[in-house]
Amino acid sequence: MRKEFLPFSRPTIEAAEINEVVDSLTSGWITTGPKVKRFEDGFKKYVRAKFAVPLSSATAGLHLTLLALGIKDGDEIITTPMTFASTLSIPLLCGAKPVLVDIEPGTLNIDVTQIREKITPKTKAIIPVHFAGQACDLEPHFALAKEFGLTIIEDAAHAAGTEYKGKRIGTFDTIAIFSFHPNKNLTTGEGGMVCTPDEVLAEEVSLLKFHGMNREAWKRFAASGTPNYDIVMPGFKYNMMDIQAAIGIHQLPKLDGFIDRRKQIAEFYNQQFAEVSELALPAYAPYEQRHAWHLYTPLVRIEKLTINRDQFMEELKKLNIGTGLHYKAIHQHSWYRENLPQPEGSLPNADYASDRILSLPLFPTMTDEDASDVVAAVKDVIARNRR
Ligand SMILES: *Cc1c(COP(=O)(O)O)cnc(C)c1O
Repeated sequence: MRKEFLPFSRPTIEAAEINEVVDSLTSGWITTGPKVKRFEDGFKKYVRAKFAVPLSSATAGLHLTLLALGIKDGDEIITTPMTFASTLSIPLLCGAKPVLVDIEPGTLNIDVTQIREKITPKTKAIIPVHFAGQACDLEPHFALAKEFGLTIIEDAAHAAGTEYKGKRIGTFDTIAIFSFHPNKNLTTGEGGMVCTPDEVLAEEVSLLKFHGMNREAWKRFAASGTPNYDIVMPGFKYNMMDIQAAIGIHQLPKLDGFIDRRKQIAEFYNQQFAEVSELALPAYAPYEQRHAWHLYTPLVRIEKLTINRDQFMEELKKLNIGTGLHYKAIHQHSWYRENLPQPEGSLPNADYASDRILSLPLFPTMTDEDASDVVAAVKDVIARNRR
């Protein structure tokens, strides 16, 4: 058994990130300023987005996007149950009703073939989540959007570096919202980015993110600026700080390398677990895409074991292997059970995955030995708890 606990995720923060943060702290300008602009430009170039708006989180990005789109009471938004809280809580807090569509059993992405039957005259948008960093099948989403006049909002929290049919997520004619939370493939501590080719939407999100002011503070207080400003609408305070962008600036050039290493480890797991019938391994989508491997999420076939998934995670912890839970299906959480109950058995693939899924350790600085420790521990727990 390993001596030290292996967390399921750990950000890669090196001297370049640290020095850039120190430079912010000593420069006299620590909040939104030139480093945020540098990070915005770098990210925009990396994903080939027309416009990119840096924010304090992806949750903020979802909020401002829905407000900018004019989502209001009574609107319906179609999304997946296999996601993080904000994908549903933000539509709800904007007065909209989230409508859940089941997932595909292999990729755990939303099953686009089941969306049509959930579209009503009240439907305004679809929020596909690129689960674990694997692109959803976007073309049929775009076709539905065109046919019914809907907006596609990509929850790209897992998808920095993900590609669909040769193009990066962030470049499509939609709205893609990225997260830079420490567990994500690229981090700024906390942070998010809204990418879109829609200039009007980008402008609206940009105004809403900082008090509805027409000029950002750092431009007003720079030697060349004037301190005056005008408030053109009421807005929030969802801006990214230079201290955050300082980290992101040095993560960007490393992102492709991070993804390569994540892929190596994921494929090592796939190979080592290929014969383990107690696990259902993550499947590759059949179309051309680049998986960013944000998460490695096998399903534990609990029907073949004497323990459930939570006990499986506990057993791994005793062997000093950390795990994550992405996700317990959203409709299984208590608020949703009470307030947005789903007909029994209407989301069978999500229910199946929800009871069996776990995230094994996956981060770029993991060593081959760490990965072998994970494999050994998983096999050990299975061997000791077979039915
Ligand atoms: C992390 C995450 C979010 C929220 O991102 P924040 O930057 O933490 O607000 C939204 N959706 C999904 C699928 C996520 O994993």
